[in-house]
Amino acid sequence: SPALFLGRTLHCDYGELARRAGAIGAALIREGMEPGDRAALFMTNRPQFLEVLFSAWYAGLAVVPVNAKLHPKEVRYILENSGARALFVSRDVGNALEPQLSGLESLSLIVDVESAGYGDMLDAPAAEPVHRAPDDLAWLFYTSGTTGQPKGVMQTHRNLLAMTLTYFADVDTVSRDDTALYAAPMSHGAGMYAFPHVLAGARHVVPESGGFEAREVFELANHHGNVSMFAAPTMVKRLVDFASEPGVDCSGIKTIVYGGGPMYAEDIRRAMDVMGPRFVQIYGQGESPMTITALSRAHLLDSSHPRHAERIASVGVAQSCVEVRVADEDGHPVPPGTTGEVLVRGDTVMKGYWRNEAATEKTIRDGWLFTGDVGRLDGDGFLTLMDRSKDLIISGGANIYPREVEEVLLRHPAVHEVSVVGGPHPEWGEEVVAFVVVRPGSTVDGGQLDALCLDAIARFKRPRVYRFVDALPKNNYGKVLKTELRALLQSG
Ligand code: AMP
Repeated sequence: SPALFLGRTLHCDYGELARRAGAIGAALIREGMEPGDRAALFMTNRPQFLEVLFSAWYAGLAVVPVNAKLHPKEVRYILENSGARALFVSRDVGNALEPQLSGLESLSLIVDVESAGYGDMLDAPAAEPVHRAPDDLAWLFYTSGTTGQPKGVMQTHRNLLAMTLTYFADVDTVSRDDTALYAAPMSHGAGMYAFPHVLAGARHVVPESGGFEAREVFELANHHGNVSMFAAPTMVKRLVDFASEPGVDCSGIKTIVYGGGPMYAEDIRRAMDVMGPRFVQIYGQGESPMTITALSRAHLLDSSHPRHAERIASVGVAQSCVEVRVADEDGHPVPPGTTGEVLVRGDTVMKGYWRNEAATEKTIRDGWLFTGDVGRLDGDGFLTLMDRSKDLIISGGANIYPREVEEVLLRHPAVHEVSVVGGPHPEWGEEVVAFVVVRPGSTVDGGQLDALCLDAIARFKRPRVYRFVDALPKNNYGKVLKTELRALLQSG
C-alpha cells in the first residue's frame, strides 16, 4: 500500500517505509547509539520526518522532534537539555543552526536528510526493531514555554499507544482508503496523528509547501480523497474563508480535527455551515497528548439538543482512555457547574518532565495531572474551558473571563478575529481592551460593538477600549499571544 507522499508524488510504500526505517535504525546502532538514547529531529514537514521517527524507534531510541520555527538558540537549549546523541535536520532550517552546535558534548551524529550520507544510510541492510517496554521513553516533547524555559515532557510508548487507540474510539475511524494530511507542524500533535493512520495502512501526505496553505489543502484533498488533518482554530478559519468562495469543492476532506486553542461557538457554527459535517474537536496538552476530551462529530451536529449551543462552545467529554475531573485548589473534585482546575488521569498522562523532579511533583499529584487549565463540567460530563488564570481580567475587583466577551463580539458579522485582554488602569487595576480584526470589505465601529455587548453581557464586562488591528500576534501553532497584546498596552 502507498505510504508517504510529497504533494501528489509517491515517496514510498509501506514495505519500503519499513525497510528504510530498519536501515537507518541499523545505521544508528552502528554509530554506537544505545537503547534509550535520544535522537532529535529539526526539520520542516517532509516525508523523511516519518522515516526518521520510525528508524529511531527501530534502534530503541527516543525521539525529540523540535519545532522547526524555533530560534537556533532555543534549539540548542533543547539539544543540550535532552542530551541528544543524534540530530536529523533538513537544510532549510539546519544551516542556521550549525553555529549553535559546537560544544554539545553528547551530540555525536548529525545527519542532513537531503544529503548523500542519508542516502547511504538508507541503502544499508535493515535491522530488526529493538525491543522496548511500554513505560520506556518514546517521545520527548518540549512544551512551548510561554513562561520560563521549555520543559521536556516524557511520553512513553504506552502513552502514544493509548493515544493512538483512543483516536479510533473517540475521534474518527480510519481505513487504508484514508489520507492523513500534514499541514500543521509534525513535531507536534499533527505528527502524532500519523500513528492511527499507520496502524490502518492509510496514506500520508506532506504538502509541497511544507506547511499550511488553504488552496493547497483543497487541491491535495480533492486529488487524494478522504483527507483527515489536524488544524488549529486559526487554520480552520482560513480553510473556511477559502471554502466560502464560489466553486470550492470540500468533498475530498473527510475530517478536520481541531484543537490546541479555543474555538469560538460562532466560528465552528460557520465552519459547519460552509464545509459541512467534517469536524471533531479535541482538547489535549503535551502532558496528555491529544487526549483529554473530545467533542464528536455527532455532538457537533446534534443541533436539536436543548444544550447544543453550550456543547459546541465546550471541549466535549472525557476521551475513553482517561478520567477527567474539575477540582479545587487542594485537588478535591467540585460539583458540576463549579469552576476549578482540570485534572486528568489515565494511560496517556506523561511519565513526568525530563530530569525535572520538582516540576513533575508539582504537576502530577496522586496520579492526577494538574493541567493548569480552568474549566467546569456540566451534569452530562461536557467540559467547558475558561481562560487560563493569567488571562483572567480583574477590573474594579470583578473577574471578567475574556472568552465570554470574545464570543459576543464575534457575533458581529464584520468581526473576523478578536482578542480581549486586560490593560493597565490607574483606578480599576485593569480595564477591558478588545483587539479587533475587521473582515475585509466590512466596517464596524466601537459604538456598534458596545451596543452588541450591552445587549448580551453585564455592563462591567464590556470593553472600554477597542483597538482595530490588521492581525493578531500568534505563535507557530496559531495561538494568539495575549502576552504580546498586554505588553503592547503596558508600553502605552
Ligand atoms: P500544548 O501543550 O502546547 O499543546 O498546549 C496545550 C494547551 O492548549 C492546553 O493546556 C489548553 O490550554 C490549550 N488547548 C488545547 N486544546 C484546546 C481546545 N480544544 N480548546 C481550548 N484550549 C485548548
